[in-house]
Amino acid sequence: MSAISLRQLRKTYGSLQVIHGVDVEIESGEFLVLVGPSGCGKSTLLRMIAGLEEISGGELEISGQVVNALPPSERNIAMVFQDYALYPHMSVRENMAFGLKMRGSDTSAIDSRVANAAEILKIQPYLDRRPAQLSGGQRQRVAMGRAIVREPAAFLFDEPLSNLDAALRVEMRLEIAKLHKRMKATTVYVTHDQVEAMTLADRIVVMNGGVIEQIGAPLDLYHKPASLFVARFIGSPT
Ligand code: ADP
Ligand code: MG
Repeated sequence: MSAISLRQLRKTYGSLQVIHGVDVEIESGEFLVLVGPSGCGKSTLLRMIAGLEEISGGELEISGQVVNALPPSERNIAMVFQDYALYPHMSVRENMAFGLKMRGSDTSAIDSRVANAAEILKIQPYLDRRPAQLSGGQRQRVAMGRAIVREPAAFLFDEPLSNLDAALRVEMRLEIAKLHKRMKATTVYVTHDQVEAMTLADRIVVMNGGVIEQIGAPLDLYHKPASLFVARFIGSPT
């Protein structure tokens, strides 16, 4: 069984169709990377999976359940945003614990999950700081920590590293690769960075104008791009 199934998924804004019948079967534990030009629908697709955008047509299944009508809180999915979306008035610890508190988890379970995630992401030194007192890289770690503590069925990332400088981007990319190796969680990751796509992905989905141009393992796309468009995105000179 796939972890996440997209079947003829469509999205329209008024009369504008931005996602045209997308089909993807995302395997459990797979790291799937979405690439494509600005405006091709990557964020929209991710937000539909998260439940942040209504689905206009087709079927979305998560862990064997059709979730089209379920709100984000009932989808067991965690999304990490580019702008981190941390609560400015809460400490790092409180930011990480907030979702679990809302769900009514008990305090000791929350504490141990927060401690565990803090250890994995090396954020113990600043658990009591506010987001404003953190660097961009540290905020990114907290955003990831907040996702991890929920132990979701899948992680969704929308260009999580694009606000970081080049050196930090490399460091965080390696961190995300390590994290995935350790947790083996199903992940859908949007990026426009070719190196991120090639190094992180089990499979890459190349999107263009709301449709999928090609899906495949990074090296398959690199060596056998289905179109010039894919070749341009994946960087093969053919
Ligand atoms: P990407 O993330 O690949 O850059 P998006 O998913 O953000 O692309 O956008 C896909 C298309 O949908 C774009 O043409 C964008 O202008 C349009 N779009 C996104 N959100 C809305 C909205 N709330 N209302 C109308 N059009 C939107
Ligand atoms: Mg986007």
